[in-house]
Amino acid sequence: MADLEQSMIELQEVSKQFGATFALRPTTLAVKKGEFLTLLGPSGSGKSTLLNLISGGYSSSSGRILLNGSDITDAPPRKRGIGMVFQNYALMPHMTAFDNVAYPLRVRGYSKDDIKAKVTDALKRVGLSGFENRKPKQLSGGQQQRVGIARCIVYSPSIIMMDEPLGALDKNLREQMQDEIKTLHREIGTTFIYVTHDQEEALNMSDRICLMNNGAIVQLGTPDELYFRPINRFAAQFIGESN
Ligand code: ADP
Ligand code: MG
Repeated sequence: MADLEQSMIELQEVSKQFGATFALRPTTLAVKKGEFLTLLGPSGSGKSTLLNLISGGYSSSSGRILLNGSDITDAPPRKRGIGMVFQNYALMPHMTAFDNVAYPLRVRGYSKDDIKAKVTDALKRVGLSGFENRKPKQLSGGQQQRVGIARCIVYSPSIIMMDEPLGALDKNLREQMQDEIKTLHREIGTTFIYVTHDQEEALNMSDRICLMNNGAIVQLGTPDELYFRPINRFAAQFIGESN
């Protein structure tokens, strides 16, 4: 695994307040190049806020964010090269699978031939060759999320972030797609930041887990470290919980 000098993302005392409430308290975190890092915590613990601060969806209330050593704290989202996958897929309902996946390439001005090649490859990677002309409502939930993942990987973002991407799927499909996402990570080697409130999912998938509660990091470590050496009672209870 990558060492500390190769941090891809560094948060330095980054916080986010809404009015008087801290959605994220001042937080310092280094994400290593190529790792699969999972933000794990209960609802309202600040996971989505942390993703939104990295993607540029939220501007920070304090602190600095570095990407490969460059300060991106005030950079617009489009300039950050970060891909997002959402729980609700966020596909455009009137567009085919092909056009949904092509969308990020079209807004970036890729040529027609390039778009065709990249979209075909991305759909193949998620097992959806032959589904190019389907609209979202003609696809199952799992297939829709595969389109969401294809739309994210198609322009080779330097970081892929997924916010509870499997939350809307049933348990069997969730387990299958956990494996698919892990395989995708191995194949493309991109840095992943993954969000879930499911401790089993985090333990199964992650190189490291960042456990959060009340807008703060409780513990950061490998699945084994969190499982066998929880830092406090909250960590022990949250990691030990079964579904
Ligand atoms: P999680 O993703 O872990 O469920 P969030 O990051 O969405 O948690 O939320 C953390 C806290 O910040 C919650 O208390 C939530 O209500 C608050 N919060 C998040 N986004 C907003 C917003 N846009 N406006 C006001 N409060 C927000
Ligand atoms: Mg959330």
